[in-house]
Parts: sequence; structure tokens; C-alpha cells
Amino acid sequence: MSEYKPLPGRDFPRFSAIKTFFRLPHVDIDADYELGIVGVPFDGGVSYRPGARFGPTRIREVSSLGRVYNWGRHQSFVEKLKVADLGDCPTVPIDLKQTYEKIEAYFLNLLSKNKKFIAVGGDHSTTLPLLRAVKKNLGRPVQLIHFDAHLDTYPAAWGCEYHHGAFVRHAVEEGLILPEKSHQFGIRGPLAGSDDLDFVTKHKINVHTVDDIRRKGIFEFVDALPEFNDDPVYISFDIDCLDPAYAPGTGTPVPGGLTTYETQQILRSLKIKNLVACDLVEVCPAYDQSEITCLAALDSIFEFIGLFAQAK
Ligand code: MN
Ligand code: MN
Repeated sequence: MSEYKPLPGRDFPRFSAIKTFFRLPHVDIDADYELGIVGVPFDGGVSYRPGARFGPTRIREVSSLGRVYNWGRHQSFVEKLKVADLGDCPTVPIDLKQTYEKIEAYFLNLLSKNKKFIAVGGDHSTTLPLLRAVKKNLGRPVQLIHFDAHLDTYPAAWGCEYHHGAFVRHAVEEGLILPEKSHQFGIRGPLAGSDDLDFVTKHKINVHTVDDIRRKGIFEFVDALPEFNDDPVYISFDIDCLDPAYAPGTGTPVPGGLTTYETQQILRSLKIKNLVACDLVEVCPAYDQSEITCLAALDSIFEFIGLFAQAK
């Protein structure tokens, strides 16, 4: 597996060399990696601050500080998995429909080669074509584990069905996810109206608000989580699940959020037998300070890799 090791910091100091996710090799989609990390630079679905199209590039830059050994798991991911940076998925910055087609085609191609992926956005509208690709490949819906301040079940906005706050609603309506076996973490107010909450209640999605997590305390909370053993699992991580103090660089920040420590503990505690894919979205570098948000994103991607290694 030696060819899938990150560039060593002792040969090339961490501020040097061409930037890839975790300083891993940049390989072709047809190479013999097992887990591909792919940028999805598109933010044509945002409703407020634009700029998440620059997320993948900035997260690659802060990947200088990415390392391989996970303290919580006592494991080095390079010993378990061949992980690589595949570069970016093609997008069309001024056309959401064409971008959706390109994302779905790219990731369906990747999945058809029996590979797993971590997609790095981009805004949260990009998750819908990712889930469509997963459903097409598996022929069955997945359990969604969704980190977010928002429910992402919002109705159409300005007459447009597809935007960064609606992927969960479409995923349920299109039969891409199993709502009763799906979980949302970090949800908090305020809402524009009750429609979005009515939707999750009607479809029995399991919502874990910040209050739910804090009232129990993080360790009691994670100990009570179910194991994800029956169905394939997809993790979608909107960086705004974190409090703006921990993730200022995002499109629609909401105060009163989770800490990076709490999301780290939730991700480390998840017991998932069949993890198909993950995404990390809504990092907006122009609003970041001292790379806090990009570092938090890098940390979650690191925990995703640990989950793939655990599931193998
Ligand atoms: Mn959000
Ligand atoms: Mn979201």
C-alpha cells in the first residue's frame, strides 16, 4: 500500500509541495485506490453568502496539517485503506441542472468501479445528485446521517425546487433515503416557518437538536445512539452544524451550535457496518478566520476516513 501514503513532512516540510487532501497522491479515477476524496466546487444553490465553490481548494491547502494516526481509534488509516485525492468533479458554475447531471455521472462511474468516496463541497445542493448516484448504484435507499444546523427540508425558494436547503426533502420524495432510519444532528432554530419541521415529523426522521445533545451530555448521548448495521449508510456533514465560533466560514451561520469536540465524539462513536459515502459541504473560505473552519472540515474528513477504515 506504500504508494497510497501521504507525502512525508520530514522530506517535504508541511508548508511545501503541491496541495492535495491529506497530502495523499493525486490519482486517476481508474487507479487501484479504495477510497477517493473528490472536490465538488459548486455553489450555485446558495441562498445567502456565496463562495463555497472555493471550499475544496482551501481544504486541500490546510491539509498540510493532515496526519494519519487517529488517537481515538489507535489506528493509522494508511495501514487499512488505500486513500487518494481524485481531483475535482466537473461542474458548471452558472447552471445547477447541468452540474447535477455531471455530479451524478461522475460519482456513478466511481461507484461502479467498487470504490467509496468522500465528496468535499461546494454547497449543500450538491448532496442530492450524490445520493441519486448512490441509489442508482445500490438499487436501494440508504440510511442518512446528517449533521446540520438546518433540517434542509425547505420548500421551493424563488420558484426553484433545487437549492442548498432542500436536499433532505427531495431525497425522501425520490426514495433515496430511509427517513425512519435517518438521523440529523446539530439542528437548531430559528425556522422560517413550520413547513420544514412538519416534513421531518411526518416522515419520522430522527432529529437530535443541540439541546438534546447538551441536556444529556456528549458521552451519555453518543452511548445511546443506535448501531447502523442493517442498511447502507451515507453521511452528509454541513459545516454549519458547528457553532459560528468553530466554523465562521460558512454560508448561513446559526449561533448556538455544536463544538468541534462534540462532532468529533459523535463521529468517533458511530458504529456503521456498511458506509458507502460521505460528503462535507458549506465551507466558505472568504468568511473564514485563521483557517478555523477549514481545519474543522479537515478534522471531520479525517474522522470519516476512520469510519471507512473501521467498516472495512
Ligand atoms: Mn446548514
Ligand atoms: Mn445543509
